[in-house]
Amino acid sequence: MPRSVSKKKRVRRAWIITLIVWIAVFSIWVLSPLNPFLLLVSLITGLAISRYLLSSTRKGAVAVLNYHSVSHNPAWLRIGEQLSIHPRQFERQLRYLKQNNYETLTIPELYDYLSHRSVANKSQKKIVLTFDDGYADNFVTAFPLLKKYDMKATIFVSTDFILKDAQGARHNSEEGYLRESHIKQMVKSGLVDIQSHGVTHTRVFNDDKSLGFHHGQLENIWLFWNNRPRHKTEWWQHDLTSFALHGYPLHKQGPALTDRKFCVNEQVINHLHTFAAQRSPNKHKERNSDVACRQELQNFLASASLPYGSFETHEEYDERIRGELEKSREQIEKLTNKPVAFLCWPQNEYSQKSLNLAAQCGYKATVSNFFSSSNCITNSASTIGRVYVGAPCFGTHNPYAQLLGFHATIKCFEGSYVWYPVVALSNALNKLFFKQTEPDPFMSIQDQL
Ligand SMILES: [Zn+2]
Repeated sequence: MPRSVSKKKRVRRAWIITLIVWIAVFSIWVLSPLNPFLLLVSLITGLAISRYLLSSTRKGAVAVLNYHSVSHNPAWLRIGEQLSIHPRQFERQLRYLKQNNYETLTIPELYDYLSHRSVANKSQKKIVLTFDDGYADNFVTAFPLLKKYDMKATIFVSTDFILKDAQGARHNSEEGYLRESHIKQMVKSGLVDIQSHGVTHTRVFNDDKSLGFHHGQLENIWLFWNNRPRHKTEWWQHDLTSFALHGYPLHKQGPALTDRKFCVNEQVINHLHTFAAQRSPNKHKERNSDVACRQELQNFLASASLPYGSFETHEEYDERIRGELEKSREQIEKLTNKPVAFLCWPQNEYSQKSLNLAAQCGYKATVSNFFSSSNCITNSASTIGRVYVGAPCFGTHNPYAQLLGFHATIKCFEGSYVWYPVVALSNALNKLFFKQTEPDPFMSIQDQL
């Protein structure tokens, strides 16, 4: 792949030169703060050089936008403030794209376009809308807007979360996950394409060192998913702080599709559950809860002479990942009657090994964050980069500020790095004004971006 290697070098060189230019600008400013003319000239020169160097690395890039939920009431998801966009704001964005003559492509269409397999009109600007996870509001709220503006989108669903039509009572509620009938109806319209987001969307322990014990912390939602698979689609309706996973040993963790799993011995887990259940519920919240659990664990391991746990072998890892990638594709293909050849990595994380396994399983390309690819026509199409546009901008929900942030993000993606200071300022203000109030169950919201 000589082309992508030389591109990598180009990007690195561009960043290094840009950095040098900015250090020079900063030095001039420090050395001659009283010379505003020199400062202005330096700033403009720095901007021009940075823009030229960086935009050349993304020339002709097609921006792929990432959303999750589009909801009037994102609170149902508990982390919805970070993962949801208001339908009014979403509609403004669609209107902006329409007014600016963007043609929407699905992910398979983008792949064909980037691989020169498509006869799409190259002179019209292209953009891709994607939604992750498969929330019901994608059908209830976003789909009518896509129809209204005649725009296409790809939804990446994790098949464990797809609801059977008989499940749940309210068919048109924004809360919860997509049903099979929702998916079929959207696919039938020709506007929505469904691709894979794996099966489980979960995490695994990837280290054998014990870090503590579960006492109902919200960030361990995935533990609930792994241990209560029958209740996975309705996890958001449970009081996770009181659910019976107390005492579960915790370790360093990572995405299930990239990390080799460390499994704690079942007997050890059962013993710790029993021990934690015997303690009064209030004691779980005590600071010394971990100390008591750890002491009990040591006593149990010594008396029962059991191994604490073991890593899955490399062969088991390969088989597990292959199994998940193949199963999700088969399930979606059966449901939609359309080929599935694209995978979006849950939490945007992947490794070289997982990329190889996805290719072996027949995925033509995988999708991750902004830095995974520049989506240029001169580039390999086996990885596709995206950017999250569901967040507020400049620390506010003001519609004008949000549209400015949206515009700047797309321009940056397309290589106009002169807009980067606007994006950076918006992100910084978001961090300042929208501090997360509770731990993110996906570990870091940055993983989603
Ligand atoms: Zn996801």
